[in-house]
Parts: sequence; C-alpha cells; structure tokens
Amino acid sequence: MKTHRIAAIPGDGIGKEVIAAGIEVLEALARRDGGFTLAFDHFDWGSDYYKAHGLMMPEDGRDQIRNHDAIYFGAVGAPDVPDHISLWGLRLAICQPFDQYANVRPTRVLPGITSPLRHVSGPELDWVIVRENSEGEYAGVGGRVHRGLPEEVATDVSMMTRTGVVRIIRFAFEMARSRPRKLLTVVTKSNAQRHAMVMWDEIAAEVARDYPDVTWDKMLVDAMTMRMTMKPETIDTVVATNLHADILSDLAAALAGSLGIAPTANLNPERRFPSMFEPIHGSAFDITGKGIANPIGTFWTATMMLEHLGEKPAADRLMRAIERVTADPDLHTPDLGGKATTRQVTDAVIASIGADN
Ligand code: ATP
Ligand code: MG
Repeated sequence: MKTHRIAAIPGDGIGKEVIAAGIEVLEALARRDGGFTLAFDHFDWGSDYYKAHGLMMPEDGRDQIRNHDAIYFGAVGAPDVPDHISLWGLRLAICQPFDQYANVRPTRVLPGITSPLRHVSGPELDWVIVRENSEGEYAGVGGRVHRGLPEEVATDVSMMTRTGVVRIIRFAFEMARSRPRKLLTVVTKSNAQRHAMVMWDEIAAEVARDYPDVTWDKMLVDAMTMRMTMKPETIDTVVATNLHADILSDLAAALAGSLGIAPTANLNPERRFPSMFEPIHGSAFDITGKGIANPIGTFWTATMMLEHLGEKPAADRLMRAIERVTADPDLHTPDLGGKATTRQVTDAVIASIGADN
C-alpha cells in the first residue's frame, strides 16, 4: 500500500485549528479508501517559534521537508510579529526556493453558500485562477534612497523573465485544456505598462499556437474586475501576474461567499520539490481559540493535495462530502451566517465520508 509523507505546518492563529481538523478528515478518508495511508510529520514553525528562537523556522527547515510528498500549510502571521518577517520567514521561504511558481485557486459557489452577487448561483461561477508565484511585481527588486528626506526615491521593479512567463502561461493553457469549457483569459495591463506586460501578451499569443483546442482572450486587469462581477459566467480559467492575480483571487474568494472556503495550491509542476497546499485565509486572530474557524477551505485544499498525490477517487469523495455539508445551513460557521463550530463541521464531513459510496 502506498504511503504519502506529508509535512504539516499549521503556523499561527486559526491555522492550527483548521489544519488539525484537516488531518482528522484526511485520516478518515484514507481509512475509508483503504488504498493508501498518510504519514504526517508535524512542524511547529511560525510566530511562536520566532518568539522563542528568533527565526520563523530552523536554518535547515527546508531540508527537513524537501523529501516530503506534499506540504499541508495553515496560516502565518501574528499581531506582534511584523508581517514582512512572518511572510518572508516562512511562507515565501518555502515557496520561492521550492520553485512553486504556479499558484492555483479554484473558485466556485458551493451548494448552500450564497454569493454576494445577486444573480449568481453555483454554475455561473466556476473558475480557476492561475497566479504567477515566483517573480513579477513581488520579485523584491527595487530600493530606497535618501530615506525620510524630501529627496527620497523608492522603487519596486516588476521583473519578468521570458522563462518565467512562458512556463506560467503554458501551465494555464494546460489547466484550461483539462477543464470542460477549454476557455482561458490572459490578464495583463499592457496598455499602461509598456514592457513586461507587452511581453506577456506576445508570449500568450505564441504559446496559444500549441493549444488550438483552447479558446483564449486577453483582458486588462481593471476591466477584468468588472467582468468578474458583471459577467462571471463568461470566465473559466484565468492567468495573471503575481500582483494582479493576488488581487483578483481575493475578489474571487469574496464572490464565492467567504474567505473561509477558498483553497489554494502552490505547485512546482515538475515535482523537483514538494508543492504546498493551504487555505487562502490568514491567521484570523480575532476568532482564534473560539472554535468557530471555518475549516472548509482547509478541506477543499486537501482535495487538491490528494489529486496532486494521485488519489483522485479520494479527492472526489472528499469534495462530495464537503458539498453535502455546505448544503446544510445548520452546518455553517459564523462567517457564513451560521452557528456551527469547527468541531461540528469536521464531524459532519467525517460522517459524510463514511456514508459515501
Ligand atoms: P493575513 O494578513 O494573513 O492575510 P488577515 O488578518 O488579513 O490575515 P484573514 O486572517 O485571512 O486576514 O481574515 C480576515 C478576517 O476574515 C478574519 O479576521 C476573520 O474574521 C475572517 N476569517 C478568515 N478566515 C476565516 C475562517 N476560516 N473562518 C472564519 N472566519 C475567517
Ligand atoms: Mg489578508
């Protein structure tokens, strides 16, 4: 029987609560499936670790997880640790060296969930947003001179490489091809940003020649926000830069009903390094310790991890269980307007896995 080794990094705040729930669900699923087992190694890295050791994770942290089959990640960030330390010290310290250049965010209105868009129910909003996750606006290139003086100048340079753009656009065409509608929208801002964004447009047209079965179009990012809200049914797969897709995917999560539901995968598609799977929400200290964090995003994330591990039937079984649970308003956590607890939602998903044929 196959054993998948998973590095669990719950991180901070509700990250600890939702990952604990996710592991329970995954273990129930492996028992139900019978064809594989999961071996979890737990890493207590994050802001508490930082306060004790002065680092978000140990110096050799990456080596400790390099050979795992996947990373199951909660959330990172604490009120008393500066954001740039927590983010760069853990999440990005894994994403960047492990070359997880494709960030994938499925967005769908699950059964029982209400979108803030009046006209939308499930089928009209079913997207995958592909975010370039390794360079671009977040490459860290730039600087500041004459700090605090009237002459101060600061730059953030968006750095795009042909290799980086080709690989993410190719990944997005593959993603679009794998979905029933075979539809891709390439988002840029090439009317105002005249260099790298024009290169994106050109590369998209070049790569598109290899995908005659995929229908694709180009869209400026500002117009894309309107299309997402006004004509969501015209969208299927989307690819955009690090910054643009960061913003668009938060909008997408909100349109799908709650931040607590949305999953994401940080993929190294060539599998030279482990990929990382996490809910998109943060550590949410306002509700930490209350037992009311919505674990659905972390469960949906687990379906992406299982698919990546080659366990598609188990992934599908988990998705069915999630949808049966979201369909019941009595099992909605407070972020969805309900009264259910993390414990109740987790138990309901586990029961639903058990009842699934
Ligand atoms: P970060 O800086 O890490 O993105 P943040 O504080 O900006 O964190 P989140 O922690 O993602 O944002 O969440 C914003 C708010 O949404 C939280 O304060 C919380 O009230 C709510 N929220 C987020 N995730 C969940 C969840 N899983 N269940 C319930 N509520 C949530
Ligand atoms: Mg945030």
